Amino acid sequence: MTSLDSFRCCKTLKVGTKTYAYYSLPAAEKNGLKGISRLPFSLKVLLENLLRNEDGRTVTKEDLQGVAQWLKTKTSEREIAFRPARVLMQDFTGVPAVVDLAAIRDAMVKLGGDPKKINPLVPVDLVIDHSVIVNFAGSGAAFKKNVEEEYKQNQERYEFLKWAQRSFEDLRVVPPGTGICHQVNLEYLARTVWTRKEKLKIDGKPVQIELAYPDTLVGTDSHTTMVNGLAVLGWGVGGIEAEAAMLGQPYSMVLPEVIGVKLTGKLKEGVTATDLVLTVTQMLRKRGVVSKFVEFFGVGIANLSIADRATIGNMSPEYGATCGFFPIDDDTLQYLRDTGRSSDRVALVAAYAKAQGLYRTKTTPDPVFTDVLKLELSQIEPSLAGPKRPQDRVALKDLKHGFATSLDKEFGKGGEMGKRLPVAGRNYDLGHGDVVIAAITSCTNTSNPSVMMGAGLLARKAAAKGLTVKPWVKTSLAPGSQVVAEYLNKSGLQADLDKLGFNLVAFGCTTCIGNSGPLAPEISKTINDHDLVNAAVLSGNRNFEARVNPDVRANYLASPPLVVAYALAGSMQVDLNRSPLGTDKAGKKVFLKDIWPSNREIAAFVRKNITKQMFTKKYGDVFKGDALWRKIRVKGALTYGWDAKSTYVQNPPYFVGMGRSPAPVTDIVDARVLGLFLDSITTDHISPAGSIKLDSPAGKYLLAHKVKPLDFNLSINTAPAAAIMR
Ligand code: SF4
Repeated sequence: MTSLDSFRCCKTLKVGTKTYAYYSLPAAEKNGLKGISRLPFSLKVLLENLLRNEDGRTVTKEDLQGVAQWLKTKTSEREIAFRPARVLMQDFTGVPAVVDLAAIRDAMVKLGGDPKKINPLVPVDLVIDHSVIVNFAGSGAAFKKNVEEEYKQNQERYEFLKWAQRSFEDLRVVPPGTGICHQVNLEYLARTVWTRKEKLKIDGKPVQIELAYPDTLVGTDSHTTMVNGLAVLGWGVGGIEAEAAMLGQPYSMVLPEVIGVKLTGKLKEGVTATDLVLTVTQMLRKRGVVSKFVEFFGVGIANLSIADRATIGNMSPEYGATCGFFPIDDDTLQYLRDTGRSSDRVALVAAYAKAQGLYRTKTTPDPVFTDVLKLELSQIEPSLAGPKRPQDRVALKDLKHGFATSLDKEFGKGGEMGKRLPVAGRNYDLGHGDVVIAAITSCTNTSNPSVMMGAGLLARKAAAKGLTVKPWVKTSLAPGSQVVAEYLNKSGLQADLDKLGFNLVAFGCTTCIGNSGPLAPEISKTINDHDLVNAAVLSGNRNFEARVNPDVRANYLASPPLVVAYALAGSMQVDLNRSPLGTDKAGKKVFLKDIWPSNREIAAFVRKNITKQMFTKKYGDVFKGDALWRKIRVKGALTYGWDAKSTYVQNPPYFVGMGRSPAPVTDIVDARVLGLFLDSITTDHISPAGSIKLDSPAGKYLLAHKVKPLDFNLSINTAPAAAIMR
């Protein structure tokens, strides 16, 4: 689409030997949009989007003027049409969108058209990461067994997605076992500045040219926001919105308020990015940032790596914001280089951002924000969040007391702190607060080498002193990309993690999405028979009751090193600041401070063990998949070979009876409210991605179709919903 370009800002930019077209913000400012150089960086990205897509209908000249006027009011009621550069999907929510696309191809054939013409209109990446379950853990064989199980349970889903991978243009599928969508996005898919070939008029002359514009996206996972740490504006949307974006429809939104968070200082020794993000979450929840953008600024940004920024971006849904944006700076460019992005791309990002006023340096004036909050990084302290909500941060030093209070107030078992029950067939007992799951999981943290190396170093020191994990703890390590496994292996730290049972279980979401797998039957029975409030400690971002595991009621979010520490302690009733984790080989007490690695030690390990080649090697053939993926046989060619008996994927009935000219759209009458919700309702409650209950409508449908309950987990979004709801 060629923009009407009311502000005459379509210009060219020479980068090396190449010339790009772009919609220049400084030119637009000069030609009438006064003051826009003072907009928050995130709004400049939105403004560029509108300038590039001005069609007089979905985007008007008044919309563009409305963005400039935002500077006066710092708020707006104007609805704008945002067109993301691309769409990111994961397999749970992505499959229905691809099913619809496949159905359109079928309809096209029926109407005598060419099915090849049906493809996404903006690039789509679908990463298969949500399916793997930690059925096996704590051994060297766990990874292989979990992957085999995953393929067995998801065969039909993977056959369908492999067909899609082969059949559609502009739809790329990252096979299972590669990583978690947001980490793969951060480390590989994101480009910060996107390009595509366009026919444009420049200085009145039509030209075919590469157009450069900010990398933006919507994704079908709420933590799509993570990539805002790399200055890529994006957020999570519902499947229908993502599908609309995929089909070239604009995303309608109100021009948001932007809350600036001014960062100063530096994190103290022993404090991690996880502690920081839990503090940010608590602080922003208190302020109230729902439907707003959050943008970080101030000198403190320079003391945060891109991985730290991505951790903060990740938890935007937990603090309630649409996104948590960090602008492009020197560190952004360095991260792109370090992760193997091409030198041409890095040069383009630098040149484009500088030409657009999208590049932040120490001397860049602070943008105009709707409101400003301040955060001094040196004030952050080691923290966890729980037992039920991500915003309920508890300082590590107060955790023991915090758990006791929660046991009383939230679980109504205040008088039972000392209660312990024997576990049948085991030589230990179990009580409230005992940690039964310790999971290094979730892109929130696994994308951050400093906390991953920190966990490895802590494991090394603990193992060297002869400490062991308590026998009731199910331990797991699920990195968000194969690069993590590569650097943990190279540094030798994986061997130390293995000694404590943190063996690799998968490259996928696992515990973060509730796929923590079953607990040992004896432990599960003891918990359920005696209504124990046991705990999970995980490096994820959500901890609503039963999200992590149906047997576990108290869930604490923590940094990977603290996950290891709590696996050693075995209980939330242990005060890690004052009580020992165990004794060394000589019988001497070992405290957390004795094995906590220093910031300098961690930084040295990161420097020494992570190379650019690891990224280029691991992402070099990212779409190829493992041997199991390559073995999958595909049904169908240009259209999918639907199986009418499938309880998993069926051709949806939307186009039944549709002619070449569809009937006009009519009003919806007699619609009924399907659900009316109070506060604190999340996608977890509305469409939980966990297991399907036997007595739910979907469960009954699947049972009637002879699907074994063990296979239920995979059907949540893709069972033929129409048939179930009938
Ligand atoms: S690890 Fe968690 S946050 Fe990341 S994509 Fe998976 S479910 Fe979402």
